[in-house]
Amino acid sequence: MSESPAVVDHRRLGRELELFDTDPLIGAGLPYWLPAGAAVRHALEEYVREAERRAGYRHVYSPVLGKRELYEISGHWAHYRDDMFPPMDVGAEQFVMRPSLCPHHAVIFRSRARSYRELPFRMAELGGMYRSEPSGVLGGLTRVRAIRLNDAHIFCTLDQVAEEAAGALGLIREAHAAMGIVPVRHRLSLPGPGGKYVAAPGMWERSTALLREVLDASGLDYEEAEGEAAFYGPKIDVQVADPAGRESTLSTVQVDFHQPEQFDLRYIGPDGARHRPVMIHRSVIGSVERAVAHLVECHAGAFPAWLAPVQLAVLPVSDDAYEAADRVAARAAGLGLRAEVVGPEQGTLGARVRAVRLVPYQAVIGAKEAAGDRVSVRLRDGRRLDPLPVGELLGRIKESVEAHATGLWAG
Ligand SMILES: [Zn+2]
Repeated sequence: MSESPAVVDHRRLGRELELFDTDPLIGAGLPYWLPAGAAVRHALEEYVREAERRAGYRHVYSPVLGKRELYEISGHWAHYRDDMFPPMDVGAEQFVMRPSLCPHHAVIFRSRARSYRELPFRMAELGGMYRSEPSGVLGGLTRVRAIRLNDAHIFCTLDQVAEEAAGALGLIREAHAAMGIVPVRHRLSLPGPGGKYVAAPGMWERSTALLREVLDASGLDYEEAEGEAAFYGPKIDVQVADPAGRESTLSTVQVDFHQPEQFDLRYIGPDGARHRPVMIHRSVIGSVERAVAHLVECHAGAFPAWLAPVQLAVLPVSDDAYEAADRVAARAAGLGLRAEVVGPEQGTLGARVRAVRLVPYQAVIGAKEAAGDRVSVRLRDGRRLDPLPVGELLGRIKESVEAHATGLWAG
């Protein structure tokens, strides 16, 4: 798209495209999603769940709060409390909104005895978590207090770590290609002076060496950065940049020896003895909020067709073709596509074409096309196709959407 960077602010575009908004009565950093934004988010969440299923992940659900003790054990209470909402007193117990999903997943893993045959156990959840950010820094979808994270924890043996981490990097690469996202760099994030990190020098050395090995084998260029690690371990961060060049982390892969120790996680090995698993934390698209913010900005609102809030706009030239347009939209909806009729009551054909300029497929129906069950098609990138049968158009769109293609029309 040709818009200048100043125009492509996801907050402004998000409001223009009616994706999301905030209301002071709900609170800063607590955006709500409008139908168009929910459609994008739903497509993204479906994609991730399906990609994870194919990669052997198993999904769980866990509650968004937990007892304070849970986070004392995980280390969040000692190392991360400043970013957590204060505890709520309920009778004699204290509950907190969770700052991460790891502790719940560790508890699920240890809910029964595990054999080495179950490893790697890839546990995934698109779960809610909360961060107590000061009001001043909040804005749009990039700094929020309620976060929906595409999270997973892989419980595995030490020998499996490199392959599992490499597999996670592969999933990340695949997702970015489908989303049309090009990362600016890969970063190996290490602890730095003055940070709050768990003290276990041997553990840090081992996990850093493992991640270096994975990055070296991947052939990716990467930089090392001190002071960017999680409190429990180093991580690979996949960095993206907004149109103004501001960097943020979208996807991560982390190796953790700390929480398996804290939660006393075990599995029974082939020798019949109990062993400690390693925990890999990984996120393919990061938080749904930040992923959508980045998608809005990097595509200037012109999402790949599979993510577009409306995939097909049907424009009857005049009222005579209205019924035919309705039928096309209904057929599209029946195929699982998101289609909308934009009729003459919304302005001249030229004005309507401009209004739907971000919709990937625009079908124009005049009296001649209506009679022949055909449509004239304009693609978002300006291409015009010869009139073609409605069934053929819808079939091609469906194919492209199901393939998560970033191109609109092959050939
Ligand atoms: Zn985690």
